[in-house]
Amino acid sequence: RLVIGVLSLQGDVREHMHALEAVGAEPVRVRRATEIDSVDGLVIPGGESTTMSRLLTVFDLFDPLRAALAEGLPAYGSCAGMIMLASTVLDTRPDAVSLGAIDITVRRNAFGRQVDSFEEDLAMNGIEGEPLRAVFIRAPWVEECGPGVEVLATVQTGPAAGRVVAVRQGPVMATSFHPEVTGDRRVHGLFVDSVRNNAGRPG
Ligand code: GLN
Repeated sequence: RLVIGVLSLQGDVREHMHALEAVGAEPVRVRRATEIDSVDGLVIPGGESTTMSRLLTVFDLFDPLRAALAEGLPAYGSCAGMIMLASTVLDTRPDAVSLGAIDITVRRNAFGRQVDSFEEDLAMNGIEGEPLRAVFIRAPWVEECGPGVEVLATVQTGPAAGRVVAVRQGPVMATSFHPEVTGDRRVHGLFVDSVRNNAGRPG
């Protein structure tokens, strides 16, 4: 069994727990630093990144989590989770921290106030078959990618066409959208398979 932690400080934790269970992983909630050591991978849910940032500090999780990610802990973040995993965050609070696990610059609430939330069918690298229904809720986009970052999906229509909304770098994956709120489990499947194929974390 593959144990996947879901960072449970804030956000749509339950939806990720269900999705992980559906793809055959064993999801566990992670709230304490000691719990990081017992997981093979970690999901950071959607929610509010500035709140999550504050709670990471309050619960003394920021440093241990950053260290585990630097050592190769596989991770997947959706929406606010993407923001938390990023190396640089634009349009955030000056005191907000992020984990720097993936070499991207993200812009919070990037799609503008008028179109806070929308859905689109996307093609995503690694996802076979029919297009993926991507649900964006006050979502970030990826404004810059470092050289090691693979773009997995871009917005396909409308004024934001071409914007990068799914990325991967080594064992870390992130999406601007929320696959956990649809019944489609293929993104969680992709993450869990990648954790399984890499046989957990080094060290
Ligand atoms: N706008 C939120 C943030 O900045 C993210 C929204 C979400 O996770 N759906 O953290």
